[in-house]
Amino acid sequence: MKIISVNAGSSSLKFQLLSMPSEETITSGIVERIGDENGIFTIKVEGKKIVKELPIPTHNVAVDLVLAALLDLKILSSFDEIEGVGHRVVQGGELFKDSAVVNDDVIKRIESLSDLAPLHNPANIIGIKAFMKVLPKVPHVVVFDTTFHSSMTDEAFMYATPYSWYQNYGVRKYGFHGTSHQYVSERAAAILKRDDLKVVVCHIGNGASLCAIKNGKSVDTSMGLTPLEGIPMGTRSGNVDPAVIELIKQKEGLTVEEIISALNKKSGYLGVSGISHDSRDIEDAYVEGNKRAELTLAIQTKRIADYIGSYYVYMGGLDALCFTAGIGENSSYLRKMVCERLGVLGVKLDDQINSSVRGKECLISSEDSKVAVYIIPTNEEVMIAREVMRFIK
Ligand code: ADP
Repeated sequence: MKIISVNAGSSSLKFQLLSMPSEETITSGIVERIGDENGIFTIKVEGKKIVKELPIPTHNVAVDLVLAALLDLKILSSFDEIEGVGHRVVQGGELFKDSAVVNDDVIKRIESLSDLAPLHNPANIIGIKAFMKVLPKVPHVVVFDTTFHSSMTDEAFMYATPYSWYQNYGVRKYGFHGTSHQYVSERAAAILKRDDLKVVVCHIGNGASLCAIKNGKSVDTSMGLTPLEGIPMGTRSGNVDPAVIELIKQKEGLTVEEIISALNKKSGYLGVSGISHDSRDIEDAYVEGNKRAELTLAIQTKRIADYIGSYYVYMGGLDALCFTAGIGENSSYLRKMVCERLGVLGVKLDDQINSSVRGKECLISSEDSKVAVYIIPTNEEVMIAREVMRFIK
């Protein structure tokens, strides 16, 4: 059975065609710069990347492009081979505690959450509608970034703000990267052959969040109402005192929107280092002795360790610590810097293994470590395809 996983953003559309239930990737790709004269369409076939530059004015054009390529490249002989489509949706709010089969009511409910995710939900809906137009007969399933965290209790998800803000506008922590945290923590449980585990997943990519998972359920996570909360990221600040906004408004004459945008797009690695948002550039500069690059990594790894310490206390211990996503899977520096700060919890890395392994599932802690430390590559597309399968059944 073939299932397509879709992740539609405001100007991009990522897709992956999977064979289920074997979970093999048949092909994957991305359409970038939708709405632009110089759109880019990339598709991977048998390990090779095919890249085309062409105008891609709308998401409908992007979807047509993807589906036509599947036929032209003989990946599919007909669209009838696709038996379901899974759509990543960023914000499910309190309305969605599970994935759902798309219908008019579901679309309306996702639309009603756009205030909470103005950059993401409207783009997700455009992607859903574009695919439904071309594949109207198969089930379309929406899978939310927030659902996995719906098991958090109110003491973990509430902010200490006026209660009416929560009642009237849904001001609370929702958390994101849920499909990734779920996938990785389920892998950890499978590797350790136990369900009664206390796990922390560190999803450290350009966007980054941590999740505390007890007995398979998310009990706390670092991102909040939006993905801005938590640890510093490629371009996001993570937590700051909200009073910073008032001060910068006065000093630089910026609007609140402009300041929030700077906290989202000009902070984190990019803001502190002044070098780049990309961890590889920061690490290169750090190795060359650049002090701001060193500080950038120190701030981030301190904050990651702070969260892990608080999750250790909250869960009453820690069995497994898992690193995933672009930086978590690939950067031995980052993993080492975090784990060195966790020595007091009995975390010990095997330095040799840590520095030689990247991008593949591996135990990287030493034999006498009190906590098992793993690299577990994430796979959000497989998780989405599994959800589609669950609903088809
Ligand atoms: P997102 O999905 O949030 O856009 P990714 O999970 O793809 O982000 O992570 C992107 C980050 O991963 C970038 O900072 C990039 O430098 C980093 N990364 C990717 N490969 C490597 C590598 N080999 N070594 C170090 N960092 C890497």
